[in-house]
Amino acid sequence: MAVVSLGLPTVAPQARPRGGSGGRALPTDRPDAPGLVDRFDRAATDLRVSLTDRCNLRCTYCMPAEGLPTLPRDAVMTREEIVRLVGIATRDLEVRQVRFTGGEPLLRGDLVEIVRDCAALPDRPELSLTTNAVGLDHRARALRDAGLDRVNVSLDTLDPDTFATMARRPFLERTLAGLAAAAEVFDVVKVNAVLVHGVNAEHAADLLTWCLERGFELRFIEQMPLDADHSWSRTSMVTAAQVRDLLAERFTLVPDDAPRDGAPAERFAVLTRGPGGGSGQAATPRLGTVGIIASVTEPFCADCRRTRLTAEGGVRSCLFAHTETDLLGPLRAGASDSELADAWRTAMWGKGAGHGMSAPGFTQPERTMSAIGG
Ligand code: SAM
Ligand code: SF4
Repeated sequence: MAVVSLGLPTVAPQARPRGGSGGRALPTDRPDAPGLVDRFDRAATDLRVSLTDRCNLRCTYCMPAEGLPTLPRDAVMTREEIVRLVGIATRDLEVRQVRFTGGEPLLRGDLVEIVRDCAALPDRPELSLTTNAVGLDHRARALRDAGLDRVNVSLDTLDPDTFATMARRPFLERTLAGLAAAAEVFDVVKVNAVLVHGVNAEHAADLLTWCLERGFELRFIEQMPLDADHSWSRTSMVTAAQVRDLLAERFTLVPDDAPRDGAPAERFAVLTRGPGGGSGQAATPRLGTVGIIASVTEPFCADCRRTRLTAEGGVRSCLFAHTETDLLGPLRAGASDSELADAWRTAMWGKGAGHGMSAPGFTQPERTMSAIGG
């Protein structure tokens, strides 16, 4: 069988890497295990599926002001293709959790149907969605009824002007409406925030107060070098340690003892500050939980359980990988489920030990967060 090239395949149903691999052979020394194991004793059970590369916001840490060239529609996975690949992942590859993301997944007109089809799979995974929530007020209930289990809403600030600066769109009210609708129908709603010095970082404690009052679990995500403008720098980003300091002005944080179990966020119980600062924590009530995702300064790669599918059906074993393995081309050329599963396993066997952000010579991937699927 000939190996297919990029774009629409014409001949053989084999997956091949795309990106900078120069066509090198995929690793073939992997064990005969059903799951998505790698050389570093990790197994990926958590799948992120990007449903689209398009977005209606232009967050400064993710997309350029003018947007990015979008994929032609026929290059993006259809509903049927997504459901087939999710089915392979859950039935053959031991994937247990599936999160839909993008770009902005709400821009998919068939999102409810995708969720419904995935929820009807025999090995039903836990289904969740990461969204900017613009328009979620019209679809939250339908998504819940279709089988969506959980929602994470990205919200960096409660100030309309700051929102408009960060998202380059004046849509705070629409995001808040979507978040409120999600809270009405989902048991678990988490909020994701990226902090930027001099923009929203100083309001971190206000955002936490607001989330605690509404029962939302807020997670602060360290900004990663996945912006289109390549303006990220280690010295200008808000670190996890700085987030803890910002919150300590108002709260006492007590690290959660429960095992992280592959979760990216380090969780803290949030207590009010007792008299004399944090020292009165034992006497103060627990207000809720906050998470900090320190991908840059306290990486958790050794415990990573994630595999990703890009909107055009490429397996990406790491956000910072420079190569992908195309599954959509082979799928459209007639590959069987077992051939696709095997290509996916081989791609994951080649996963690197870590993102290498601290290593000399680290280079930012060409794709932005919006194009990979965060
Ligand atoms: N559009 C949806 C949203 O914003 O929730 C889903 C896609 S977005 C790429 C997923 C998550 O990635 C969001 O929570 C966003 O804040 C986060 N994100 C985007 N760019 C990032 C970056 N450079 N560093 C860290 N997180 C980032
Ligand atoms: Fe769009 Fe989400 Fe990226 Fe913001 S973070 S530009 S909402 S994909």
